[in-house]
Amino acid sequence: MNILCPVCKNLLMRKGNIYQCENRHSFDLAKEGYLNLNMHNSQNTGDNPQMIRARRDFLNQGYYSFLREEVDTLLNEEDTLIDLACGEGYYTSYFKCKDKVGIDLSKTGLKYASKHDKSTLYLLNSIFHNPLADSCADKVLTIFAPLAKEEIVRLLKKNGIFLLVRPDRDHLIELKQLLYDEPYLNETEIPEIDGLKLLQEIPIRKKEKVVGQDIRNLFMMTPYYNTTSQRDKEKLQNVDELEISFAFLIDVYRK
Ligand SMILES: [Zn+2]
Repeated sequence: MNILCPVCKNLLMRKGNIYQCENRHSFDLAKEGYLNLNMHNSQNTGDNPQMIRARRDFLNQGYYSFLREEVDTLLNEEDTLIDLACGEGYYTSYFKCKDKVGIDLSKTGLKYASKHDKSTLYLLNSIFHNPLADSCADKVLTIFAPLAKEEIVRLLKKNGIFLLVRPDRDHLIELKQLLYDEPYLNETEIPEIDGLKLLQEIPIRKKEKVVGQDIRNLFMMTPYYNTTSQRDKEKLQNVDELEISFAFLIDVYRK
């Protein structure tokens, strides 16, 4: 996949552990293996290490393996794939595509990802500004992350496919019922993206018993963890097991 120099926009070529353009701007691979091309001195550095650890521990228990297996059926070995907001690479590392780039702004996430998965090039960058060339990807993927609409359209080849994975209406509803007096359902309106056409929406779901610390880790992965009061958070302290619905939507778009 073509990566452009973030300074002069010329093509970067790899020489050993260095990426360099013809103007000799050069960028070292980190010792774990990811590439830092982030030129924006952003304060926002992605998810914090504690949340990443909780997510990693939860995902490593295999509760969401059915989701990555399903997404993998929508990919081909010949695809060039970009995973926008890849985190610690739980999904990215699994996919069969031979040319994969994962982008995230979390250094903690990328260190873990690049250490454990050598089949993907991990880039430390904002998903909203990245140094990949126009029309370089057959598939772009966003799993539980903000939609970088303009970048998605820019990166896709003509007829390229964008896959958006997001929670369905009642995802984790049993967890919310336990936490809140008035549990709310997720918004499921399909996002419109200028330049892309929706082909289909694939719902997938299962219900599974979640035990012990996995329940607390799962809760920490949710966007509402930070807005839940201490009093409500404590309701989970003594829960040993809970039957929980995992319900996702995979929206398939074409450029
Ligand atoms: Zn350059």
